[in-house]
Amino acid sequence: MGSIKKVLLVFLPSESGVDGARSLYSEKDKNIIFSWFNRSLRTFIKQSQFAIPPLSLMILSSIEVDGVEQSICDMRFEEFPLNRQWDLVGISVQTGMAKKAFALADTLRSRGITVVLGGAHVTLFPESCEPHADVLVLGEADDLWKELLIDLTTASLKPLYRSDTFPDLAISRPVMKTSLVNNRYFTTNLIQTGRGCQHSCDFCNVHLLNGHTLRRRAIADIVSEVTRFKGSDRRIFFFVDDSINADPAYALELFRKLTPLKIRWFGQSTTTLGQQHELLETFARSGCMALLVGIESIEVTSRNAHKKNQNKASELSLAIKTIRSAGISLYGSFIYGLDGDTLETPAAILDFIGDTRLDVPGINILRPIPGTRVFQRLREEGRLLFDPLDITAFRYTFGQEMLYTPKNIPLDAFIESYSALTRQIFTMKSSITRGLAAPRAKSAVLLFNLFYTHLYNLSRHDLRYQLEKNSTEKTILPYAE
Ligand code: SF4
Repeated sequence: MGSIKKVLLVFLPSESGVDGARSLYSEKDKNIIFSWFNRSLRTFIKQSQFAIPPLSLMILSSIEVDGVEQSICDMRFEEFPLNRQWDLVGISVQTGMAKKAFALADTLRSRGITVVLGGAHVTLFPESCEPHADVLVLGEADDLWKELLIDLTTASLKPLYRSDTFPDLAISRPVMKTSLVNNRYFTTNLIQTGRGCQHSCDFCNVHLLNGHTLRRRAIADIVSEVTRFKGSDRRIFFFVDDSINADPAYALELFRKLTPLKIRWFGQSTTTLGQQHELLETFARSGCMALLVGIESIEVTSRNAHKKNQNKASELSLAIKTIRSAGISLYGSFIYGLDGDTLETPAAILDFIGDTRLDVPGINILRPIPGTRVFQRLREEGRLLFDPLDITAFRYTFGQEMLYTPKNIPLDAFIESYSALTRQIFTMKSSITRGLAAPRAKSAVLLFNLFYTHLYNLSRHDLRYQLEKNSTEKTILPYAE
């Protein structure tokens, strides 16, 4: 066998977000105090380590092949190590970061380094990625990556690796954390119990990328992973599944087995958990501190318009109160600007938050992700505000830009009402009140609320900038194809 092949897996930073929120139009900041405050807060947020490691790269770097050594470069924290020799670089491409990913890939290839592109954007839009890569990996890479690494050792790499079926997650694939620098992150204890979603919300790409069938890992594998992870990092666990309660019998067995390990954990669930009483108690007993629930909308017409049908609007309030009464804090994510929303919707959201005492509200603007059905529909209806083929238009910005025209609300009025809503929800006083009232994880709830108070301030700043730009340049017009 020849020399060891060095493989580097790269994760790119987003434009803005929990890894260092900033205004997209910060160059327009005339106010020196605001700019200084903004910069200081960003540094603080970065140092507060909200960041979590890239799980997909953890999974790939855990695949062992004789003659290959893999490591991770998380570019949120470090520069690309160009001074070292790499036999292959794999870049994870998300649509919001595609331009950056392509620029890096082009630079590396010009230096003779073999570049592999994979990830959601590559899976959905392989043609646009092809000119920037030596190799494309389409779909979930768990099995493909091993094949690719073996081909690397025998100098027989193929230009394309794709699988027509989803990997069987019941096969044991231990995830290792050896490639991570622990103290960069909020926690390194990321666990995925399965993939896939039975639902078809039209703004979401999970079911497109991971399929409609729930695939689960073996419970024994997860218990042993949690035990092993806890040995090297005693911080909180994050179960990254989109709905940790999607298969209640599985979740019940898993979290009963995890209870003796005495971990503390965060996760994501549907509000149906409020009706799954045995599971809810088990979650609370097993150390669940907080859950993110995708409320999305409390308007029946909006839920129907976007195929958000898995739970009823009328049951949301009781479900949230029940989960909080079990001692679990809730982050509730809303989308304002859906097709059934009107200018009455913000008042209803405010009432809902007040009534349920939701611990961290997230108020998002609908983001038409390329590849989703809502993107296609808005495109057909002439409601997109950007060229659908422009990969630079879609950024991870926490709703700081309008990318489409709402159905029932004029754009200017929408931006004003969205800004007024976030201004009312996120004040210092309400952030502190919510932090103190949270059933668990009070300091995390407080920190998130304070962070959001800042983030939505940036959001209003950027939306106002868009509006001003529109009134002078008339730039916010639906894109004409
Ligand atoms: S939003 Fe949640 S429930 Fe809807 S399709 Fe996506 S993952 Fe499934």
